[in-house]
Amino acid sequence: MKPIQYYEKIASNKQKAYMQMQCHCALCNTSLELKFENLNQDEIKETASCPQCEIRTRAKTHTVH
Ligand SMILES: [Zn+2]
Repeated sequence: MKPIQYYEKIASNKQKAYMQMQCHCALCNTSLELKFENLNQDEIKETASCPQCEIRTRAKTHTVH
């Protein structure tokens, strides 16, 4: 898993921890596939799914400020 340094440049520690928490499946530790979708100007829908388990682990929306 390489992109830690990349996240350090763009994100706060809190955001970084959040991203790391999201990056791997809790069941099998496979890297999750993250997808982002703009719902509208202010909201982004995020879904994370595990290609191994074929489960969707997260689907939430973020408000963009
Ligand atoms: Zn999994």
